[in-house]
Amino acid sequence: MTSLYASRLHKVRAQMQLQRVDALVVSVGFDLPYLVGYHAMPLERLTALVVTADRATLVVPRLEAPRVEQHPDVFDVVAWNETDDPVAITTTLIGSAKRIAIGDQMWSRFLVEMLPKLSGRSFVRSVEIVGPLRIHKDAAEIAALTSAGAAADRVAAQLQRGDIPLAGRTEAQVSADISARLLIEGHDVVNFAIVAAGDNAASPHHHPGDRVIKQGDIVLCDFGGTMRGYCSDITRCVHLGEPPADIARAWNDLRRAQEAGVTAGVVGASCESVDAAARAVLVDAGWGEFFIHRTGHGIGMEAHEEPYMVSGNSLEIAAGHAFSVEPGIYVAGKWGMRLEDIVVATDTGPQRMNTTPRDLVVL
Ligand code: ZN
Ligand code: ZN
Ligand code: ZN
Repeated sequence: MTSLYASRLHKVRAQMQLQRVDALVVSVGFDLPYLVGYHAMPLERLTALVVTADRATLVVPRLEAPRVEQHPDVFDVVAWNETDDPVAITTTLIGSAKRIAIGDQMWSRFLVEMLPKLSGRSFVRSVEIVGPLRIHKDAAEIAALTSAGAAADRVAAQLQRGDIPLAGRTEAQVSADISARLLIEGHDVVNFAIVAAGDNAASPHHHPGDRVIKQGDIVLCDFGGTMRGYCSDITRCVHLGEPPADIARAWNDLRRAQEAGVTAGVVGASCESVDAAARAVLVDAGWGEFFIHRTGHGIGMEAHEEPYMVSGNSLEIAAGHAFSVEPGIYVAGKWGMRLEDIVVATDTGPQRMNTTPRDLVVL
């Protein structure tokens, strides 16, 4: 792994130079494990990686230091004691850097303490520096996304086969069941398991509750976890009993919209064109006002990261970009539906990480 982190730090320094950033400071969040393989717990004690042109130093609470896998040729470790001032240690390492990139998930309490010690400097978000690296998944990262996607697919297949009892159980019970299955299929952590039945499905991020699922319901299941450091995310819907004509028609339109979004995800196209392609199908079919969110988000170490498939994002899709395509139709008070796959852009076209059939399966 030493060579992996050495190469990432090499690339990050190239970005810093390109953008005339003299120091990069990242704390909790995913830039840190991406760069040095260490995931800091979001605690009240400061953890910070300070990268300058000639040095990289991980400032870490003494009691967390044993969890750090050391790569002395890539970065130094400074373990601070309970009576030390980690903010002072960090600002000393930042030194005279004029332009400083700060991680999005640095607690503001530490930033507020640092700012007076860094007067006269300018600041940018670390996503400007680390983002361009993280957005391009290498072969090992795509392999990890593929296995996470396959594990989520196995749970989606169980849902479609009717292996996960629905009728008579609450959304929360089904959500717990799906979560357990995500772990059995190889995920290390469950990130979410949305189960929304009937009119609850009209709320895209519904929190599964004690509504009992019954015959005649559409059941939307959107779930994912992290497996070997990379995330899965899939949405499938099933219908208990034959769906009424409006729902069957809507599903057909949704499926075409999702297909159009996936097909548009080619290298060189803009991110917003993926959104436009999916949205055009739903607008044409009369569902425009019921598709109330962007079409997708990037995915990798985080379930939601760059690039976002949203109107206004002119970023060009490149080989190795991984993102969701998840249009939905939400009719408040009645029903909702969403269809989601993860897609990786490759030079030979968009490649789905999810292969579970995209039908509205009737159970
Ligand atoms: Zn979502
Ligand atoms: Zn999802
Ligand atoms: Zn998603």
